[in-house]
Amino acid sequence: MSLTISGVGISRGIAIGRVHRLETSAVEVDATTIPKQLVEDEVARFRRAIRTARQQLKAIRNAIPESTPADITEFIDTHLLMLEDTMLTVAPVELIRQNLCNAEWALKMQRDALARVFDEMDDPYLRTRMDDVDHVVARIQRILIGGSSHADAQSDDQFRGAIVVAHDLTPAETALLHHQGIAGFVTESGGPLSHTAILARSLGMPAIVGTHLTSHQVRDGDTVILDAGRGVLLADVAESTLKSYRRKQRERQKRVGELDRLKSSPAVTSDGISIRLLANVELEEDVRAACHAGADGIGLYRTEFLFMNRSDLPDEEEQLAQYLAVVRALRGLPITIRTMDLGADKGYAADGSGERLATNPALSLRAIRLCLRNTELFRPQLRAILRASAEGPVRLMIPMLSSAGELNEALELIEDIRQELDNEGAAFDPDMPIGGMIEVPAAALSATLFARKLDFLSIGTNDLIQYTLAIDRVDDSVTYLYDPLHPAVLRLIRMVIEAGQHYQVPVSMCGEMAGDPRYTRLLLGMGLEEFSVPPTALLEVKDVIQRSRICRLTPVVNDLLASDDPAEISALLGALNAL
Ligand code: PEP
Ligand code: MG
Repeated sequence: MSLTISGVGISRGIAIGRVHRLETSAVEVDATTIPKQLVEDEVARFRRAIRTARQQLKAIRNAIPESTPADITEFIDTHLLMLEDTMLTVAPVELIRQNLCNAEWALKMQRDALARVFDEMDDPYLRTRMDDVDHVVARIQRILIGGSSHADAQSDDQFRGAIVVAHDLTPAETALLHHQGIAGFVTESGGPLSHTAILARSLGMPAIVGTHLTSHQVRDGDTVILDAGRGVLLADVAESTLKSYRRKQRERQKRVGELDRLKSSPAVTSDGISIRLLANVELEEDVRAACHAGADGIGLYRTEFLFMNRSDLPDEEEQLAQYLAVVRALRGLPITIRTMDLGADKGYAADGSGERLATNPALSLRAIRLCLRNTELFRPQLRAILRASAEGPVRLMIPMLSSAGELNEALELIEDIRQELDNEGAAFDPDMPIGGMIEVPAAALSATLFARKLDFLSIGTNDLIQYTLAIDRVDDSVTYLYDPLHPAVLRLIRMVIEAGQHYQVPVSMCGEMAGDPRYTRLLLGMGLEEFSVPPTALLEVKDVIQRSRICRLTPVVNDLLASDDPAEISALLGALNAL
């Protein structure tokens, strides 16, 4: 009988291949007493392991294709730096000598001591850096015990076409495995917002995380089907299932080829309504993918990625250089730069707030709240965005607004910076549009307030759904409750669109819902005229737009919005998509 293992699909596509299990979890080690006269030999063994670990990491660094995003390769550099640090190179040597113990045990003692220090840190980002220490320690441990199961210890051909199953994968391992030709991967732990997940998406690699599968469920060499779109791994499948998935795979490839033809055609419905189809980007490299897919511009540039994976903060000039690079790459297309959405799961190194760790970080000092509390952090970004607006059509967008007070404070600060730049004679666009994200239910319920004071609104459904349905978006135990079709979510979206229509303020949607072609007609029928989607989803959404007549959608959408019966809502969505 076939076995279906569910997880969180973090990319699209189907992969069929043989399982290759990778033992990447923590290494078990035992304590052994070393006779005094052999202690220096043990120290030499430890130092050799450190040298080998460095060679392995350098080899990975060299093997990674140039197109790999810089923030991913920085992880490998961080691990290399750790291998130079005395906390891992000198402290274990002292422990071997003091305790007359084996190198593996000394390293474990040092790791545990570091874990205690990291645990006490207030800064959530710094605390997550313990993961990096663990990855480096596990690498040295494996070398010491002579293990060879790590990705980099194996030849390229072993991985070609394989579906890698692991406890977890670091971004470095993911990049290397991609280079070695794997078809996809499945991990037991991990969430859809990890850097490994982001890398898999940008590499277009089918992958599922958070499966909690146990080792006996799939064995090395088993043929499995990985359906990343559905977030499932199918094992022990019948020949007929394999055939049907191979057909789906071929259809998908054909479809990707066909969609390419839509790149230069406009996103206009068949009854003549023009839709703005923009792209979401995280890294400068994504801008190329957005332009390649024929985006009308960038509807969401997530700037917080600039602040992550580093121990210092980017100053105004560094931020300006980055924003200008993106503005120039767009050659006159508009860009919406979102001010940093840091806090919650997206911590940053120099937080320095020194405050207690929030019990519920997603409900704490995040995004605009953090920025208003810490204007020293915010001002350089606002100055850099305003200065970048001198060179192209830039819009500024504020995330996670929830009240009038917060909005007014943010607008006053922006006005103050405009004056400051003016006094300095710095160039900027005095009419740069300022918009806000509607991603907190309170903001959706009072959307008219925001529509009156802002130049545009953008609905962030990822957070709007999280906060409306009370489901932590990074907790895989409640992923099953994530439902864009929940009547409460749909009503909030409609309120925002109506507020925009009433005050003639453009309303966009930049959450993942906008990039899911199953919802395109529903959103068109609700009156949405601007979509901002991941570059990989752009042509699929455009295809649906071009095949839709809004005048035919509206009556079905009205019925759907009037319903609170999930079965009826789902049937009406089916009917809408079949029109
Ligand atoms: C959202 O919340 O929908 C959104 C686009 O912002 P982010 O996913 O970066 O929180
Ligand atoms: Mg958000």
